[in-house]
Amino acid sequence: MNIRLRRAIRLFLQRAVGRYGYHLYHESVNPLISWDYPQKEWIICNFCGTVFHRASVNHSEFLACPNCDAIARERVAYQCILNEIYRRFGVARLFIGQSNELSQWKMLECSPRHNDTRRKIYQDTFGHYLASDFDLRTHRADIKIDLTNQDDISQFPEAFDLILCSHVLEHIPDYKQALQNLHFMLAPGGLLILQVPLLEGEYTPVTWEEFHADNTPVFHRFSFDLLLDLDSFFSQATAVVGRLKFRIRSPEIAKNKYDFLNKNQERCLILGAQLSRYYGLGAPDLCDAFIAYK
Ligand SMILES: [Zn+2]
Repeated sequence: MNIRLRRAIRLFLQRAVGRYGYHLYHESVNPLISWDYPQKEWIICNFCGTVFHRASVNHSEFLACPNCDAIARERVAYQCILNEIYRRFGVARLFIGQSNELSQWKMLECSPRHNDTRRKIYQDTFGHYLASDFDLRTHRADIKIDLTNQDDISQFPEAFDLILCSHVLEHIPDYKQALQNLHFMLAPGGLLILQVPLLEGEYTPVTWEEFHADNTPVFHRFSFDLLLDLDSFFSQATAVVGRLKFRIRSPEIAKNKYDFLNKNQERCLILGAQLSRYYGLGAPDLCDAFIAYK
């Protein structure tokens, strides 16, 4: 083969491999890699529709889409939106981008991980998309909203059809006030998708010093009994999980994490192992969210 042609093919392959983030790894190097899934698999990003190779650890903070950078736990929240499209319109969409049903929705996302591609898709797909942050310091956002500041909240009465609040509540001392205010900002029939780290078998206040990677203090360790708090403010609240029956493998998760749900299975929506695998929703013991209706 012509040497130039060979070089061109090699360059193309290198770039393609770089783009799709494929790299070699071994379980002995990183024990977080799940035993549940074969290593050579493809993931469909349920936000932008990109298909990419499963090439990083099977954890809620990894499996980033090479196009829009959505990670596993974000795709759990997007799956909740796709489920809602089906519930309201009877239309089964594969991914968020170009889901026409969302063109009338007003959406608020609290402290999102910023990505230009994702932001553009949000703006093109939703009727109105607003990203907020507590102090505009940690995250790039459109507006400052402190979820416990009544002046901030009072600007948005019944303003949003959908609020996505992910990994925020554990950093707010008065989280119940924040829940009440999230309810206040939802339009009638509106939907809150809430994610918090669920590590415990029951609610545990953090009385020691605990910080997340971006140096924000943590005040609460939540469990599925957060459903009881959601009941105080919302007309209906459901826990969403990837699976319910499996062996917990992550060392940071309490072994009794699912006890509350096992006793209240009617309050639980199970996405299932297949869907979790195809959409790359991460390890089953960290694949969860809450949905709550006004
Ligand atoms: Zn994507």
